Amino acid sequence: MEIAHATRNEFVVKELLKSVGHVFLKMPLGFIVTLKHLFKKPISLDYPRVKQPMSPRYRGRHYLERYDDGTERCVCCGLCAAACPADAIYMEPEETPNGERKAKVYEINLLRCIFCGFCEEACPEEAVFLGQEYEFSAYDRNSFIWTKTDMLVPHPRKDNPVKRIIRRVRRVYGVTDAHR
Ligand code: SF4
Ligand code: SF4
Repeated sequence: MEIAHATRNEFVVKELLKSVGHVFLKMPLGFIVTLKHLFKKPISLDYPRVKQPMSPRYRGRHYLERYDDGTERCVCCGLCAAACPADAIYMEPEETPNGERKAKVYEINLLRCIFCGFCEEACPEEAVFLGQEYEFSAYDRNSFIWTKTDMLVPHPRKDNPVKRIIRRVRRVYGVTDAHR
């Protein structure tokens, strides 16, 4: 009985010493890690006030481009819809008073879109392009059906000439880039 009592006392003392070790040794060690990071430059951003610039190759929301004279580039040829693997593009053509063809309806279902950029590469008029914007979340499904009004740029965009050349080369030689 006395032996069992002594063993229990030893156990209690051991546990006590272990706890003291945790408080006076391991906790300060943990605080050292915290202190080390306290004076380092933070890697997080104060979003949405501060935004991380996206990679130039990032593919965000879609736009419909205009020519320099302000007319719409899209001729409603349907090549972007044919290239779209997600079947996300719908369009209806119409004829302008001077006999040109343009899109009466042009819609992209962003809930289907996988932002692959195939529509941009397929377009012979360089009318549709994916921009850098990624903030288009919404609370209802209908808001994700983007129409011409949502996508048509007010003024012609000055495209990155390098990106445009790469796109043309890819189109001509049928090059696909799996790493994009
Ligand atoms: S980015 Fe890809 S999935 Fe989205 S509309 Fe264009 S082709 Fe379709
Ligand atoms: S966006 Fe380009 S590929 Fe698509 S219908 Fe218009 S012109 Fe054709």
